Amino acid sequence: MIEKDHQSHPEIRAAVTRLCADFPASYWRALDQARGYPAEFVAALTQAGYLAALIPEEFGGAGLPLSAAAAILESVQASGGNGAACHAQMYIMGTILRHGSPAQKARYLPQIAEGTLRLQAFGVTEPSSGTDTSSLRTRAVRDGDDYVVNGSKVWTSRAEHSDLMLLLARTTPQAAVERRTDGLSTLLVDMRTAKGLTIRPIRTMMNHNSCEVFFENMRVPAENLIGVEGKGFRYILDGMNAERLLIAAECIGDAKWFIARSSAYANERVVFGRPIGQNQGVQFPIARAYAQMRAAEALLQQGLAAYDAGQPCGDLANMAKMLCAEASWAAGEAAIQTHGGYGFAEDYDIERKFRETRLYQVAPVSTNLILSYVAEHVLGLPRSY
Ligand SMILES: Cc1cc2nc3c(=O)[nH]c(=O)nc-3n(C[C@H](O)[C@H](O)[C@H](O)COP(=O)(O)OP(=O)(O)OC[C@H]3O[C@@H](n4cnc5c(N)ncnc54)[C@H](O)[C@@H]3O)c2cc1C
Repeated sequence: MIEKDHQSHPEIRAAVTRLCADFPASYWRALDQARGYPAEFVAALTQAGYLAALIPEEFGGAGLPLSAAAAILESVQASGGNGAACHAQMYIMGTILRHGSPAQKARYLPQIAEGTLRLQAFGVTEPSSGTDTSSLRTRAVRDGDDYVVNGSKVWTSRAEHSDLMLLLARTTPQAAVERRTDGLSTLLVDMRTAKGLTIRPIRTMMNHNSCEVFFENMRVPAENLIGVEGKGFRYILDGMNAERLLIAAECIGDAKWFIARSSAYANERVVFGRPIGQNQGVQFPIARAYAQMRAAEALLQQGLAAYDAGQPCGDLANMAKMLCAEASWAAGEAAIQTHGGYGFAEDYDIERKFRETRLYQVAPVSTNLILSYVAEHVLGLPRSY
């Protein structure tokens, strides 16, 4: 229990929950209907220092462990909000922190920490290659002091609300490298000044501010290359455990919100002269979702502890992401059923959260790819792709 308390950061949870109280369900509902961006909420989180939780103190951040960032995001979701608008600001900067030059860190991290520079966009997925990242086609060709970038990305979330984009592009053709994953590089694109960049929003079933992004002879200064040319795939992989654990924490927050709402409604809604929650047929799906959430949360805590201790945690991060996303979906399903017809009414917010939490079985990595990881890397089964 002591270990769990240590990791669960009760003060941070309480403070984030207080901040979220200023952004009630009506705020999120209106944004959802307009497919708007929660600029005021993101500003408040930034101002309170939460989006800089993982930036070391020497660069103006809070220097907190990943478990603290997880507590922040879980609390946002558990209060009914949608942290997807800003969660990437917490972890994309990890690529600069781990692989950037001292000059790049000094230039970008303090501004990201104080919120004057937004690094919210992560351009990896492409229309033709999808999950098969190493087959991406966007090319960055060195020309003097610049790279010239041509190609496109899809599902680049928050591109319209970010100053910088961390872009993964091919700098050496696949045919000229030994391993398919070689020859990819990470470039920091300043979208405020970039020419030849077109952003086109994609309307989706939930409010996620995702976009198509097109590059046509877009010049990026070579000094914006992060790390060594050709090693970008490795750098992206390095950041994935943190991303998966944080998304898992968001799913736990969603599950807790669904379960709390279901329990409250099942107690207060009276049909046939008694609370609907008195029926086992109503109780059991909520109780099962709770048990599922607690099991997933326990695995997430293990993953966070391993990550914060600097231990390998690819298996835990992947499994936690999958199980937490399944737990939030099960809790969402129980919530819809518990609320009967009202589960579908916008004013109850269940349908909104139901749509929002469904994403996490597909992005940032789909369940099948997690199972492939476990099969290959944990169980020693043949690689399936
Ligand atoms: C709202 C939203 C936001 C996103 N944000 C970002 C972002 O900010 N940046 C970014 O780079 N990407 C982002 N993504 C992209 C997301 O990571 C991809 O959608 C996801 O990785 C799947 O890629 P795909 O859509 O091309 O599906 P595909 O690769 O076409 O896969 C389709 C289905 O086939 C399955 N499949 C494919 N190959 C295999 C295999 N070998 N074995 C078993 N099953 C397989 C997949 O699991 C999936 O279920 C976002 C996506 C969405 C929907």
